[in-house]
Amino acid sequence: MIKKSSIEDLKNKLDIVDVIGSYIELKKAGVNYKARCPFHEEKSASFVVSPSKQIYHCFGCGSGGDAISFVKEYEKLSYPEALEKLARENNVLLDYENSTQAKKEDKTLEQVNKFFLKNLQYQKEAMAYLQERGVFNSSIEKFEIGYSPSSGEQLSFLSSNHITSQDAVEAGVIAQDANKRFYARFIERITFPIYSANNHIVGFGGRTISNHPAKYINSPQTKLFNKSRLLYAYNIAKESIYRKKEIIVTEGYLDVIMLHQAGFDNTVATLGTALTSEHLPLLKKGEPRVILAYDGDNAGKNAALKAAKMLSMSSFDGGVVLFEESKDPADFVKEGKIDYLNALFKHPKKFIEFVIETIALEYDLNIPEQKQGAKNEINSFLKNLSPILQEEYISFASGVLKSKESFFKIKKTYPAKETAKSYDVAEMSMLKTLILNPYLVDYLLDVCDENIFEHHRDIFMDIIQNRAESKKLLELELNEKILPLSEDELKEKIKKLQILNLQKKLNLIKNDQAIDFKKKSFEIRKTQDMIKNLNQGMKP
Ligand code: ZN
Repeated sequence: MIKKSSIEDLKNKLDIVDVIGSYIELKKAGVNYKARCPFHEEKSASFVVSPSKQIYHCFGCGSGGDAISFVKEYEKLSYPEALEKLARENNVLLDYENSTQAKKEDKTLEQVNKFFLKNLQYQKEAMAYLQERGVFNSSIEKFEIGYSPSSGEQLSFLSSNHITSQDAVEAGVIAQDANKRFYARFIERITFPIYSANNHIVGFGGRTISNHPAKYINSPQTKLFNKSRLLYAYNIAKESIYRKKEIIVTEGYLDVIMLHQAGFDNTVATLGTALTSEHLPLLKKGEPRVILAYDGDNAGKNAALKAAKMLSMSSFDGGVVLFEESKDPADFVKEGKIDYLNALFKHPKKFIEFVIETIALEYDLNIPEQKQGAKNEINSFLKNLSPILQEEYISFASGVLKSKESFFKIKKTYPAKETAKSYDVAEMSMLKTLILNPYLVDYLLDVCDENIFEHHRDIFMDIIQNRAESKKLLELELNEKILPLSEDELKEKIKKLQILNLQKKLNLIKNDQAIDFKKKSFEIRKTQDMIKNLNQGMKP
């Protein structure tokens, strides 16, 4: 747990405009800054940053908060991770109450990784394999490639370093067999430590060198390790990805290492899984163009097809590179074909073109029925794209299928991602006036109560209770579409609403069958008097 005082120190040092401005481009708009929201897709700028309040808010998707919550959301970090990142960047030393379980797992993995690193140099076979693949010693160091020895050796390492079995299990280093005996998960494998985007070790990948049937294995799912969200070497490639505005996604640890070696230091890899939608937030960071660099075999082609569909539907820019001759990128680097790789990465096949062509290849277009099938499949893919992209690619698709453009239909009703929030503008104006002129709250409470607000009573309650951190209050304050009223206008509005409410009440009483005549006439008279008073500018 990070001490509260530390968090306060950090907060005092941060300026939200600097923090958010380092991720996205902010444009000055009056006293605030505006941008297109990084958390949802939009064409207009509904993302507002207030330097005076040190908060941000998006009127499109509702996200909002302070500098720390922005980093947390944007980088997909936990709150403490966001604090740690900002502290590092701003030279603030954080104090901790006591270490959490996650910290412990982190520590365990760090120790085990060091042990693996030390082991590699004594492993002739493993070293020979790496050399044969063309891995430089500098890469072994950079990627912390190690070696996991026998299970027994690992267990004795753990016990002599006072790492409990429970901690080691939770870190995904060991497991228990049917007889409740502990065994190491990575046995006689070359190890590749896997780090989170934020540079914390979260698990391992391991390649067998003793002909184990499973060539590659990964750490099991733990609190830290979620392989459908992680990308291998993202922590190392991050800077380059931001700088080059490009990320190369491969399928293997060695591809990453060799491509980095050849200068493609913006390369990452999925961890033995396909690219999933859970990877998208990480891929979106820094808005890079995405290049999928996969094997040209059927498995690689299918993986690329699925990924290209997903990425194009999520409006990612980029394309696909398939390696032919059953070679992977690592082979090309080893053979020194760097120019060839450069040319490939420079001109990848655009995602949408790749999808259309790959689908078309699955059919025999000389047979009308097959051509119809291809057309249907391409059509259903195109339908998921924005109308503009649909229009762009219809001529491409009809070219590939050699058929008329009119065979493809544009789906006009593209799902609107921005949903308009319903609010009562009149009430909002009143509430904004109250926020800006707190003394008018007393006036309002003097003449009526919170029930005067039919739709946004909750905001009024937040105002009364002085909830400075209330999201709704901040949203209202920053909403430039809602204009505050003058004092007189507000008073007039209050009066009108009071009268309206009383008239409603009057109707209810008149139509109420349950109260007796005497009480009813009393209530009616009382309410009519109140309305009369209000109309004459008096208290009700
Ligand atoms: Zn938004």
